[in-house]
Amino acid sequence: MSGYLADKNICCGCGACENVCPTKAIAMGYDDEGFLYPSLEQTKCVDCRACERVCPVKLDANKGYPDYLKTYAGYSTKKEVMEHCTSGGFATELSQLILQKGGVVFGVRYAKDYIKAEYVCVTQEEDLKALMSSKYVQSEKKDVYQAVKKTLLTNKTVLFIGCPCDVSALKLFLGKEYENLFTCELVCMGVTSYKIAEEYKEYTEKKNKAKLTFINARSKKNGWFVPHLEERFDNGKTKLTTLFGSYYGYGFQVYNRPSCFQCRYCDKNGVADFRVGDFWGIKETDEFWNPNGVSCIFVRTERGLALLKEIEERGFKLFKTDYEKATVNNMSSLHNKAEKYVVLREKFARIYKEEGLVRACKKTESFSVKLKRMLPKGMRAFAKKIYHKLHDKKTR
Ligand SMILES: Cc1cc2nc3c(=O)[nH]c(=O)nc-3n(C[C@H](O)[C@H](O)[C@H](O)COP(=O)(O)OP(=O)(O)OC[C@H]3O[C@@H](n4cnc5c(N)ncnc54)[C@H](O)[C@@H]3O)c2cc1C
Ligand code: SF4
Ligand code: SF4
Ligand code: SF4
Repeated sequence: MSGYLADKNICCGCGACENVCPTKAIAMGYDDEGFLYPSLEQTKCVDCRACERVCPVKLDANKGYPDYLKTYAGYSTKKEVMEHCTSGGFATELSQLILQKGGVVFGVRYAKDYIKAEYVCVTQEEDLKALMSSKYVQSEKKDVYQAVKKTLLTNKTVLFIGCPCDVSALKLFLGKEYENLFTCELVCMGVTSYKIAEEYKEYTEKKNKAKLTFINARSKKNGWFVPHLEERFDNGKTKLTTLFGSYYGYGFQVYNRPSCFQCRYCDKNGVADFRVGDFWGIKETDEFWNPNGVSCIFVRTERGLALLKEIEERGFKLFKTDYEKATVNNMSSLHNKAEKYVVLREKFARIYKEEGLVRACKKTESFSVKLKRMLPKGMRAFAKKIYHKLHDKKTR
C-alpha cells in the first residue's frame, strides 16, 4: 500500500495531499454528507510519500506551538469596513495593507450560488469585499497552495487567511519559511457542509416564493453582538433573522465536519502570525466596546507585531488585553466541543439524511434555540447581554 490518506474522522479536508501529489493520484471529492475527502488512485502512485509529509493532522499531532506574544482588542475606524466585516475588520485592514504594499491576498469568498465557498487570489482592493464576513461552509481549496507558492516565488508579498488547519496545511505544503509570506488564522468552531446551505436555499426560496440573490451569515444590519442572517431575494425582499435561530445557523452549528470535533487547533495551537476572532467576552463598560464589532487579535510573531503597528498607525483602534479576557464566552477559542455535541451531531445527521434539514433542526433543537426563533428582535440582544452578565460573573 502506498500513498497516505488520514483516517476519515480526523481528515480536515485541507487538500494539501492533492496539491502536492506529483502524479495526480489523489483527488478531493465530496462524500454523501457533503464534506471533501481525498481518494487515491493506486495505479498512479509512485510512492514518493509527499502526501504524508504535508498532512497536518498527521504531522501536527502532539506538536508544540509558539505562544502568543500579545493579545489585543481592536476595530477599524473605516465605515465601509465596519459595515461589511464580521467582527472588528482586522482581516480586511490587514488585507488592505498587504495590497497597498503591492502584495496579494488569498482568502475565501462565496461561489456565485451562495452555496459553496472557495479560495480566491485578490489583487485589487475592490475585490476584498467578497472576502469580508465569515462563510461557515468549508471552503474548496482546489490548487490554492500551489498558487500561493507560485506567487511567493515572484517575490511578491502574500497574505493567506483561513481556518487554522488551512494555514497549517499551507505551511507544510511549502516546507520552509518564506520572508514574503504572512498568515492569519481565524478562531474556528468548525465548518459545515455545503449541503446545509444548498437545502436552506431551497427551503427559503420556496417559503419566500422568490430566488435568493444574496446571503450573509454575519450581517450587521442589527448590530454585531447578536449575529444575524441576511437574505435578499430577486423580488426585492430582504429578510433578517438571528443566525442561530435560523435553520441555516443551527445546521451550521451542529452539523460540523467530523474532524472539527477533535480539532488540533484550539487554544494556542496554530502556526499563523495572527489569530483573529470575535471578542464575545466584551462588556459595554469595556473601553474597547463597539456595537458595530470588536476583534480579538492574538499575535504570534515579531513580524506580526510590526505589521500590526502599521495598521494602528493607519487608524485601526487597538487596545492591549490578555488571553483570558479575550477567550471568555468563546468556546472554540479554548477547547473542542463537548461530548454532548458529538451525540447531538450524530442524531442530527441521522434525521437529516432521512428527513432533511428542517425536520433535523426541529427534532434536535433545544428549548433555548426555539426561544431564539420566537423572541422579538430587540429581546434577543437583551437576553444575550443578560446571559453574558451571568456567565461573566461565573468565570471571573
Ligand atoms: C467557519 C468559521 C468558524 C468561526 N468560529 C468562530 C468562533 O467560534 N469564535 C470566534 O471568535 N470567531 C470565529 N470565527 C472567526 C470570526 O467569524 C471572524 O472571521 C473573525 O473574527 C475575523 O473577523 P474580521 O472582521 O477581522 O474579518 P473580515 O474582515 O470580515 O474578513 C473575513 C476573513 O475571513 C475569511 N474567511 C471567511 N470565511 C472563511 C472560510 N469559510 N474559511 C476560511 N476563511 C474564511 C475571508 O477570507 C476574510 O479574509 C469563525 C470563522 C469561520 C469562517
Ligand atoms: S505517495 Fe506520492 S505519488 Fe503516491 S499518492 Fe502520495 S504524493 Fe501521490
Ligand atoms: S492532507 Fe489534508 S485532505 Fe489530505 S488526508 Fe491529510 S488532512 Fe486529509
Ligand atoms: S475546527 Fe479545526 S479542523 Fe475544523 S475547520 Fe476549524 S481548524 Fe479546521
